[in-house]
Amino acid sequence: MILKIVQVGEAVLRERAAEVEPSRIKTPEFQRLIEMMRATMLDAPGVGLAAPQVGVGLSVAVIEDRAETINALAAQDALERDRKPVPFHVLVNPTIKVIDAAPQIFNEGCLSVAGFMAQVARARSVQVTALDHTGTLVTISATGWYARILQHEIDHLHGDLYIDKMNSRTFCGPTEPPARKP
Ligand code: ZN
Repeated sequence: MILKIVQVGEAVLRERAAEVEPSRIKTPEFQRLIEMMRATMLDAPGVGLAAPQVGVGLSVAVIEDRAETINALAAQDALERDRKPVPFHVLVNPTIKVIDAAPQIFNEGCLSVAGFMAQVARARSVQVTALDHTGTLVTISATGWYARILQHEIDHLHGDLYIDKMNSRTFCGPTEPPARKP
């Protein structure tokens, strides 16, 4: 089942998502939410989706960056962005720590700000601690594009959108990419 992705202006995108009670993770109801979020992300298509984006104010996000998506990019773009495949996984109640703050500046979009993108500076490396889809505590170290996806999705769980952090002079529709130069 594909869920409706809510757009900027909806209050749920600006609220702090509630922590999930760990004992809920294995329930059929919660597993169904994960499956619906996965299907919705794939359909969009996107590389990450946070529960508030489907109108659910819970601290949950799903991420997957497929090899075929990356292979469809110009090789130089994938290289510059340090973009490598990330298998599907679930983050519940994640916390994030910056490991390398060196700003990486690239265009970023969001399924809840459909049709636009802008340059956003993100930390190069982060470490995330979360529960996975089974409720097991996991620690993830990520660099490059994966680190960007994690920062973007965890921002959603705090009620933040990339438009709060973008260089607003580069904000544009996808058919008019901004000049790469400052
Ligand atoms: Zn987003």
